[in-house]
Amino acid sequence: MNWFDNELRQLQQDSRERTIRSCRTLSGAAGYMEREARTLLNLSSNDYLGLSGHPDIIDAMRASLLADGAGAGASRLVTGSRPVYELLEQALAEWQGCEAALVFANGYMANAGTIGALAGRDGVVFSDKLNHASITDGIVFSRAEHARYRHNDMDHLRTLLTKYRDKQRKLIVTDAVFSMDGDQARLHELVELKREFGAMLMVDEAHSGGIYSSKGEGLCRQLGLHGEVDIHMGTFSKAFGVYGAYICGSRQLIRLLVNKSRPLIYSTALPPSVPAGIMKALGLVQSQHWRREKLLKASQFFRSALRNDGFQIGGENSPIVPLVVGDNGTALRFSAELETQGIGAVAIRPPTVPAGTARIRFSLSAAHSEQELESAALTIRKIGFRLGVISE
Ligand SMILES: *Cc1c(COP(=O)(O)O)cnc(C)c1O
Repeated sequence: MNWFDNELRQLQQDSRERTIRSCRTLSGAAGYMEREARTLLNLSSNDYLGLSGHPDIIDAMRASLLADGAGAGASRLVTGSRPVYELLEQALAEWQGCEAALVFANGYMANAGTIGALAGRDGVVFSDKLNHASITDGIVFSRAEHARYRHNDMDHLRTLLTKYRDKQRKLIVTDAVFSMDGDQARLHELVELKREFGAMLMVDEAHSGGIYSSKGEGLCRQLGLHGEVDIHMGTFSKAFGVYGAYICGSRQLIRLLVNKSRPLIYSTALPPSVPAGIMKALGLVQSQHWRREKLLKASQFFRSALRNDGFQIGGENSPIVPLVVGDNGTALRFSAELETQGIGAVAIRPPTVPAGTARIRFSLSAAHSEQELESAALTIRKIGFRLGVISE
């Protein structure tokens, strides 16, 4: 038993212990939450388009619950699949301009299950150092060689591609928008490198799906590169406001995953009400472009307001606005002070981010108004002065 105590004591000493706290959503007040009887402006949610409370999605899920029951009862390969998946996967493939699509229970399982199925012992996966943990875990599952390149460092990637030139299976994988930094992958260069070295390219659009391009297809489409990407991944838990994830690509890719992806094969399908909700959300994501425009405009405003105050703010052109303070304790104090001032924004610490780069990760939503963000920026500024994060 003793090693539990020792590990916990160490976590506590380093201000690295994490705890789970409950929040309530407030009906009719998208963009807010309630915590310990206090109403907070929610600046730490990934509900980017403000869809999680949308009545049409809720109605679709309610109707499916009544018709199809609470649980799927088995994995999709057994008896857990439902007709709604066929409709949804066809719509997803069309939306992404791919031959086929496959829905997974969540983004973690989509990444881990896809990389795990594709790479294999004789392969090598080239992965950005700041990629999401589910990508890293997928590489571990796959038993492939893990070639980590420095964040967005294309020269380093080229060196590694050269080193592993003779490997049969080469997969380059990247987040499109990096979840803790809010910056974008260098997709044009990644496409050039994958062509030059005969590698496959997989792009995780968890923080860009729904947010970029005229129908929310994501950053690859926005940049005109969607045809160059072999494996498109995205989640329905963020901009879509529901839960679940997709992989889109060739028919062969999807056939292979159905046969080899362990999280798909060995886990029960989502409750049928979830794909029913996603189906409705997909229509809204495609048709309500105003949500994207509002979100990106607000993000630009908020990012430059904090930058002008002298904060070290990461990222560009994305709703993820990280305010880097460095030290774990300061990040925790900053977050606690924000909460007393009516703002919910969590401190992100190592190992989620590199040591010495603890931060407050603000994430915005189309549900926020510019006045709300303006007043939040003023509050953040005051706390920044008080804690010595910025000076006059
Ligand atoms: C959130 C996230 C995931 C995991 O998605 P879930 O649906 O929440 O499991 C995968 N990749 C990235 C980049 C993410 O930010």
